[in-house]
Amino acid sequence: MATILDGKAHADRMLEEVRLRVEARAAAGQRLPGLAVVLVGEDPASQVYVRNKATACARVGVHSFEHRLPADTPQAVLDALIDRLNADPTVDGILVQLPLPGGLDSKRALHRISPAKDVDGFHPMNQGLLLEGLPGLRPCTPTACMSLLAHHGLALKGLRAVVLGRSEIVGKPMALMLLEQHATVTIAHSRTQDLPAVCREADLLVAAVGRPGLVEGSWIRPGAVVLDVGINRVQDLDLGARIFAAEPTKLANLQAKGAVLCGDVRFGEAMRVASAVTPVPGGVGPLTIAGLLTNTLWAAEQAEA
Ligand code: NAD
Repeated sequence: MATILDGKAHADRMLEEVRLRVEARAAAGQRLPGLAVVLVGEDPASQVYVRNKATACARVGVHSFEHRLPADTPQAVLDALIDRLNADPTVDGILVQLPLPGGLDSKRALHRISPAKDVDGFHPMNQGLLLEGLPGLRPCTPTACMSLLAHHGLALKGLRAVVLGRSEIVGKPMALMLLEQHATVTIAHSRTQDLPAVCREADLLVAAVGRPGLVEGSWIRPGAVVLDVGINRVQDLDLGARIFAAEPTKLANLQAKGAVLCGDVRFGEAMRVASAVTPVPGGVGPLTIAGLLTNTLWAAEQAEA
């Protein structure tokens, strides 16, 4: 049976490190870092994420500033708020919660955030720094995934890594970070031919697709390490019966509650083939917020450097 890579435990370690560094700043008379979160509209999932971010800020001593705007906010109003936050010296990080309601241009909003405060790491300037292998603000999820791999001592040099998914949030930056650590990286996506065969080449498989249970046990090379970034809500019993065949408890939960969360990987099947796997929930999910606060602290440190 594979080892379960406990993302929650690693997120706790990362957050504790941030808390200690923030405490040391306060003891040295420096101001607390500040994170501004902009939430436009009423998307229920976004509300939960924003709440979780505020809780994590409070835990580590980072100031959290929440800006809620109605769904029909004009782009010019959002632009003006971002400009104000860019100029505010108490704000080190700015996060515009995605997705934005229809009618708002998210690229325009993200590009307007000052690169020095872009704690999501989505600004082209920071993407360019990552491409060049230079220090900068890097996307939270892949950064935290790299931290998890480092904690578990996985030697990446020369390793065959396959990243499933090519988004700018996860897939592409993850591939660049693995490349930086000298892995041999393949990016696979929705147009890749013979996906199972490509996945089977991986010593490290990172799935960031958003398709519940896409990766079957037979796609995984025996002994591979599997990071499952996908977070999917499954309500369909037939789909559940297929993808949870090796996870009777999950299937029973689906039957009892009408919905369960799962990743892109069939966890029960992966556990029988891989050497280590992240679960969903409790794997990569909690790491993302830890990555965000690590970035916010870094931005605050850079602002004074
Ligand atoms: P996205 O929709 O932007 O990108 C998905 C990628 O998967 C695309 O590049 C697409 O080419 C690829 N893809 C889609 N269908 C495919 C298929 N059938 N076969 C192969 N490739 C396919 O998604 P994203 O923002 O990168 O997020 C991916 C998943 O990760 C989602 O489930 C999302 O909820 C989750 N996510 C989790 C965290 C976290 O904190 N754990 C953070 C970000 C995203």
